[in-house]
Amino acid sequence: MSQTHPDRRTFAIISHPDAGKTTLTEKLLVAGGAIHIAGEVKARGAARRARSDWMKIEQQRGISVTSSVMTFEHAGLVFNLLDTPGHEDFSEDTYRTLTAVDSAVMVIDAAKGIEPQTLKLFEVCRLRSVPIITFINKVDREGLPPFELLDEVADRLALDVCPMNWPAGMGGQFEGIYDLVDPAIMKPGGDASRMYEGHRAKVAGLGDPALAAEISADALAHLKEETELASACYADFDAAAYRNGDLTPVYFGSALKEFGVIDLLAALANHAPGPQPQPAEPAPVDPADAAVTGFVFKVQANMNPAHRDRIAFMRLCSGKFERGMRLMQGGTGKAIAISRPMLFLAQDREMAEEAFPGDIIGIPNHGTLRVGDTLSERTDITITGLPNFAPELLRRVALVDPTQTKKLRKALDDMAEEGIIQVFYPEIGANMIVGVVGQLQLEVLISRLDAEYKVEAKLEQSPWETARWIASDDPAKLKAFQSEHRGASATDRDGAPVFMAKDGWEVGYITQRNPDIRFTATKERR
Ligand code: GDP
Repeated sequence: MSQTHPDRRTFAIISHPDAGKTTLTEKLLVAGGAIHIAGEVKARGAARRARSDWMKIEQQRGISVTSSVMTFEHAGLVFNLLDTPGHEDFSEDTYRTLTAVDSAVMVIDAAKGIEPQTLKLFEVCRLRSVPIITFINKVDREGLPPFELLDEVADRLALDVCPMNWPAGMGGQFEGIYDLVDPAIMKPGGDASRMYEGHRAKVAGLGDPALAAEISADALAHLKEETELASACYADFDAAAYRNGDLTPVYFGSALKEFGVIDLLAALANHAPGPQPQPAEPAPVDPADAAVTGFVFKVQANMNPAHRDRIAFMRLCSGKFERGMRLMQGGTGKAIAISRPMLFLAQDREMAEEAFPGDIIGIPNHGTLRVGDTLSERTDITITGLPNFAPELLRRVALVDPTQTKKLRKALDDMAEEGIIQVFYPEIGANMIVGVVGQLQLEVLISRLDAEYKVEAKLEQSPWETARWIASDDPAKLKAFQSEHRGASATDRDGAPVFMAKDGWEVGYITQRNPDIRFTATKERR
């Protein structure tokens, strides 16, 4: 890769609600110096105006584009932290965000261990072998014993674990954290705002009298015993195994008390991979490729209710992007001039003059860009691996006021573009069907229909629960299948044929009886 620009660390934090993701994000931004940057950046006129407009809209809508991507510079590197939506339910949006990162930090609450959402998000990471650093948070409170936590990660996630530091006591007995890699003790106390510099005492090892002077004899005895056992039980740190997604280095810490945050940042700097090749047809995109190529992994629609304004988030995979560049939209072959790209410095937004592989660029547009779109200087490349998922809940959308049909269509279209729902058009009947992967998406749909679009609609039970995309090498056979199952046939927004089924059992039954038809639970975007 070109050495003329700082390397990137593009990552996401995965966790169960309440584990401390927000707190850790803030502390990482402080540690990385980004919060400092806020307000100091000298924006030029146009950029400043654009920025304040966005800020206003964000406030009105109570959403935050700013926090979707947070960029900061630290230790000669550029960190891009991508926020994963904090939904209880697995959402497609979350999945797609994780296709745009090169590594992840998994935050676990020391008192709770691995929770359902952590597990789901982890599984998504595993699909792509995303390397994971584990942060066991809240060690300042009473938690599960370190061994129990480490064993849980190892057993439930089938990962090798390697503790990088060790808490000297927890909860009431918490005295500090011992760094196992670069022996040192970090202790609480003093001026909280100076945690980073002030409370780390280097020691020569566990036998160093300097350590005994820092913590109680009891804590030291425990620490010795536990770390000795740990070094016998767990794997040594192996950078290659971590990068393959087979081993996770584990940091104990407290986001709130700022313990282990700086170590986590150092771990990201030292071990987390920079931009990785991106799966694509006809061949993966290498970050060192000269041609600019990226893909849209997220679209935020309706930033301004008066316009069809939206912002597409593009992850740059290769080449040096420059403002004003014209990139070809995969599929349509249309050239799009990117004249107002945005970068996301934490708490601020800057016009992007240039960007490098691993960076995220916000592209304002009026609905031309969609999730999964490839944007490239090349015409022969399509980024792959951003699937739609077969919905697990299908509902019929019924309007209370039938004159609102057009508005409803637009609303459903917008939200489908954002990846909140999928929309299906049945062969028979005029009502559209919405499909989602989780219940929460339905709630988001109804509340946004009401609040943003002023459309009064009800969701009614449909006879179907799930759907599969269908295809066949023989168009006649596909047609015959569709007419035989007309009542369960539909098309998606792209016009692709879909078979709606009562349940998983029916999918299996129908699949078996129609060997010439391919039924797929995911559909890759064009
Ligand atoms: P999120 O839902 O994962 O974003 O979690 P938050 O960052 O909002 O934290 C949830 C709660 O846990 C808040 O009340 C935090 O103050 C608290 N919290 C976060 N980190 C720590 C920690 O290290 N120690 C303690 N004691 N509380 C914490």
